[in-house]
Amino acid sequence: MNKRVIRIRQHDNILRLTWVINNICTNHCDYCPPILHNGTNHNYNIERAKDFIQRLSGHYEKIHCSISGGEPTVSPFFPEIVNMLYDSGHTVGITTNGVRTIDYWKSVAPKLSYICFSYHPGSHDPQLIEKALESAKHTHVVIRVMMDSRYWDKSLHFYEECSKISEIRTEPVRILPEIANRHIGDDYTPENIEWLFKNQMGVNRKIAIDSTKAPLFRQEKIGSSFHYSDGSVDKNANGNYLITSGQNDFRGWACNIGLESLYIGFDGYVKKGNCGQGGHLFHIDDHEKNELPTAGEICVQRKCFCVTDVMITKAPMLEANSEIIKNLTTGVKIKSEQDYKEYYKDYIRIKAT
Ligand code: SF4
Ligand code: SF4
Repeated sequence: MNKRVIRIRQHDNILRLTWVINNICTNHCDYCPPILHNGTNHNYNIERAKDFIQRLSGHYEKIHCSISGGEPTVSPFFPEIVNMLYDSGHTVGITTNGVRTIDYWKSVAPKLSYICFSYHPGSHDPQLIEKALESAKHTHVVIRVMMDSRYWDKSLHFYEECSKISEIRTEPVRILPEIANRHIGDDYTPENIEWLFKNQMGVNRKIAIDSTKAPLFRQEKIGSSFHYSDGSVDKNANGNYLITSGQNDFRGWACNIGLESLYIGFDGYVKKGNCGQGGHLFHIDDHEKNELPTAGEICVQRKCFCVTDVMITKAPMLEANSEIIKNLTTGVKIKSEQDYKEYYKDYIRIKAT
């Protein structure tokens, strides 16, 4: 790999709002930190949360809200929140394990800009493709296949089956220790890595939606361009590619986190983005006593490992190996199994394998 990314520019003036709506889930994947799936439905006042969304709606011209969890559809408020954002002219997408019924997806899909169904080979849902196909009548559908190294052949087979379906987009996902907070499911062979590189290059294909058949569908506008060291510009950029190819160390870069993005955690704390740089801004229950951010950040995170964060406008400002950046460097440190179990002891109810 010779060319390096040298600048990232978000195309439209839009707030990327990530909302981790709960920390309860119907699955218990062992590459998912227990704190994200062994919790409760809402750890904040949902009325205050709705009020905060209305405030953002008055402040930003356009919002794209990515809702995840836990499993977001476990929240009884999920359909109402989608309607609220949609009716205010914004866009909403969801990442889900697809646990709900086909009828549920039929009812919520029309007002969603996309549905990312994640496929977890350790907890196979035999109806996932059927649910995805029903949803694809109304919105963009992606099946994100977790390429768990322990189930490589099973994941590969499922990926190949989904790739044959023209109505949906299929994306392979590398299991990252920075997300799992431990080494599990990430024991890839060099051939696996090569396959992941190759198959993440071409995943941007959007399926055209027929507006006569899906009249409520609204496309989200959250694209970014990647500028490379050889002068080339990728206007249809894929953040996963930079993560997989290890081009996600932006230490010393000026980043528009907090200006182009906000993050609401499952605990109700609002931050500038998924990476947590800038710390907690305030709790959603007390939001009206606090200002919204007016400045970005100089990146000091070891890795930018969330696609939403990667796509935020950023450009180099300070040398990554300068003393000031070295001294401030922070970010996820991958835990040993012993530290992992100690750290999550109050959350591990299901024995991790
Ligand atoms: S389905 Fe998603 S949220 Fe649930 S345990 Fe698995 S990775 Fe975590
Ligand atoms: S890790 Fe955070 S601060 Fe650094 S580039 Fe990514 S979003 Fe910006």
